[in-house]
Amino acid sequence: MIISILLKQHVGVACEPIVMEKQIVKKGELIAKPTGLGANIHSSVSGIVQKIENDVIVIDAFDEQPEEYEKIKASDDYLELIKEAGVVGAGGAGFPTHTKLNTNLEGGYVLANLAECEPLLNHNTQMSTINPDYIVKGVKYIMEITNASKGYIAIKPIYKLAIDALIKACEKESNIEVKLLPNMYPAGDERVIVREILGITLKPGQLPLEANAIVSNAETLKNIVLAIEERKPVISKDITVCGRVKNAKGGKTFFDVPIGTPAGYLIDKCGGYIKPYGELVMGGPFTGNHCTEQSPISKTSGGILVSMPLPKEVRKIGVIACECGANEDRLEEIAKQMGTEVVASKKCKRMIEVNGRYRCEKPGVCPGQAETVLYLKKQGAEAIIAGTCEG
Ligand code: SF4
Repeated sequence: MIISILLKQHVGVACEPIVMEKQIVKKGELIAKPTGLGANIHSSVSGIVQKIENDVIVIDAFDEQPEEYEKIKASDDYLELIKEAGVVGAGGAGFPTHTKLNTNLEGGYVLANLAECEPLLNHNTQMSTINPDYIVKGVKYIMEITNASKGYIAIKPIYKLAIDALIKACEKESNIEVKLLPNMYPAGDERVIVREILGITLKPGQLPLEANAIVSNAETLKNIVLAIEERKPVISKDITVCGRVKNAKGGKTFFDVPIGTPAGYLIDKCGGYIKPYGELVMGGPFTGNHCTEQSPISKTSGGILVSMPLPKEVRKIGVIACECGANEDRLEEIAKQMGTEVVASKKCKRMIEVNGRYRCEKPGVCPGQAETVLYLKKQGAEAIIAGTCEG
């Protein structure tokens, strides 16, 4: 199989390759290093580097793959192990974890984000149900690194099996508790987690650090534990495949998919498409982006979604963007695939500009959009596409 490993799978700049074309690489071998803010990238397979171009290392994977992987350098320093392993925020943000955790939270909080907010995605919840120790140990390691004194595991009440498993895994932990989030989107937004769990309202643009807290996604916690305990680099990703895909009714979870695997391979593994179908999306329904069968899994990929066929009969569209859902570019891209004209675009009225970027004032406390809809209709819109959670 051909594996395509992106040189930019994180916030920051693309990594610099340290391998050459035709070179044989081993599973787990370091193949690219950051040149600034970023994280190490390792080969997810054993194989031959076929080419390096357009910020991608393409590897022709050997048919036989070893179970074992090249371990990262040994160290007693947890942050160093996390850095070596190339751990980044696996929930989509991709911020380098060693940089995020290099702080002192004396008396502060570690919040495990198990909101699994995007509809249809379920790999984090399933992993936490099967392996709740990854979550509890991950929180403990971060508490130790940052001197935080309390850990909370934030999860929605609908995930009953995971909650039971996590409560059991926390039984002997006096400083770690499971706490419930509201059943709404976007409960997984960092500011919503801080507001709901700690009762502190952060302003748009403020980070959880302002509340003396760090928020960490479920799979990031798993990767932290594997880096520290198994010296394992981040070479795989848990993925949910869902939508118009056979045998993926309600979402099919794949654990530890090699990074660089093409999306089409996982769709085939499920038995292929249910026809007719529409767009392929990498990520979830709210924040995912258009992809193709060749698009590779990265450290931040959440799901592979195959949509319903997009309606074609509408000619004029108005769009409403949301900070926590789809933005204008994404909505206009959908409109283009529908073969329609976008006559006007608006942001949700709760979005305000902070340092050149639009942020939501109250994520999840969503207003009605009646005024905006009327405005868009006046501009000639026959239908509205909204990236918002409330239409
Ligand atoms: S208030 Fe508006 S921008 Fe914020 S989450 Fe709700 S719909 Fe999105």
